[in-house]
Amino acid sequence: MQSNTKRALIFGIGGQDGAYLARLLIARGYDVHGTSRSASYGHNLRRIGVAERLTFHRVDVTDASGVRQLIDAVRPGEIYYLAGQSSVAESFAQPVEAFMSNATGVLNVLEALRLIKHPARFFNASSSESFGDVSEPATEESALAPCSPYGVAKAASALLVKTYRRSFGLFACSGIMFNHESPLRPGNFVSQKIIRDVIEIARKRKHELILAETAMVRDWGWAPDFVECMWMMLQKDHPEDYIIATGIGVSLAAFAGRAFRYFDLDSKAFITIDQSRARPTDIAMSVGNPAKAMRQIGWKATTVMPQLVDTLIEAALKEADDKRSDALGRA
Ligand code: NDP
Repeated sequence: MQSNTKRALIFGIGGQDGAYLARLLIARGYDVHGTSRSASYGHNLRRIGVAERLTFHRVDVTDASGVRQLIDAVRPGEIYYLAGQSSVAESFAQPVEAFMSNATGVLNVLEALRLIKHPARFFNASSSESFGDVSEPATEESALAPCSPYGVAKAASALLVKTYRRSFGLFACSGIMFNHESPLRPGNFVSQKIIRDVIEIARKRKHELILAETAMVRDWGWAPDFVECMWMMLQKDHPEDYIIATGIGVSLAAFAGRAFRYFDLDSKAFITIDQSRARPTDIAMSVGNPAKAMRQIGWKATTVMPQLVDTLIEAALKEADDKRSDALGRA
C-alpha cells in the first residue's frame, strides 16, 4: 500500500472519539482504517452508521512490532491515537494498564514512525488530568502535576510526543483535552450516570442520585466538536500542541442541577452524598483555556454548558424511544 494523505488510521476506533472521528473523516472522503483489541468493537460505529465504511485491524497497542507492522502496511497520511484506558477511577485499580495503553502505546507509534521513516501526521489524545488541580484555566504552558495513574500516563504521552517532534522532526502533536461528552460516552462516567439516573428519577423508577461529591468543577464539552479540532490540528503547516476545552468551568452540582431542571425537578430533593465512592485523590478544579486553538486554528466549541446537558438528555430520551419503537416493531 502506498502512503496516502487521505488515508487515516485511528487507534481505538470503537470508542466515543474514535467513532465520531471516523464519521467526520469518512464524510471528508478519507479511506478510514481503525484498530481495536477485539473483533466486537463496532457498537458505537453502528450507532452512528459508519461501521460498514471502514477497514478494521485487530491490534494490541502495547505490542511494538504489531503496531509497526500495521503502520507499515496501511501507510496512512494521518494517525490518531485515541486508544487506551480512559477512566481516571479505573486507573487507580489498573495502573499498569493505564500506563501501558496511554503512554507505551503512544511510544510504539512514535517509534514506528521513526524506524520506518513514514511521514504520517500524528495526533495524540492527551488529557487535562496531566495538570492536576488548577486555580485558573490551564494553558499549554501550565505545569504538569497529575494526581492519578491516568494523569501520569497522559502527561508522559504528551512529553514523548514533544520529544519526538523536537528530536526527530516528526509531525506529531497532542491535543490536551478536557472532558467531552456524548451519547457514546461509556456509562461509568459521572456525566452519563447523572443523565441516566435523572431520567430514571423523572420517570419515578428511581428516587435518588448518589454522588461522591458535588463541588468539583470541570470543563465539559461536546465530543463531535473535539474530533473536529483533532482533524484541524493535523491540517496545519507545523505540528503544535493545543488545549481542547470550552473554557467554561461548571460544578458537578450545577451539572446535575441543570439535568433536574430539564424535568422541572429540584436537585436538592434527590442528591445523596456518599463519600465512600470518592477516588483516592481527585481534582477540585479542571478548566482549560482554549485561546491558542481559537487564535491559531480557528477552532471553537459549539455546544457548551449548560446547553450540553439538555443535548445529552434529549439524545438519551430519543435513543430510548428508538429502542422502544424497534422492540414494538419486532413484537
Ligand atoms: P473511550 O473509552 O470511549 O475509548 C477508548 C478506546 O480505547 C476504547 O473503546 C477501547 O477500544 C480502547 N481501550 C480501552 N482500554 C484499553 C487498553 N487497556 N488498551 C488498549 N486499548 C484500550 O474513550 P474516548 O473515546 O472518550 O477518549 C479517546 C481518548 O481521549 C482516550 O485516550 C482518552 O483517555 C482521551 N481523553 C478523553 C477525554 C474525554 O472526556 N472523553 C478527555 C481527555 C482525554 P477497544 O475495546 O475496541 O480496544
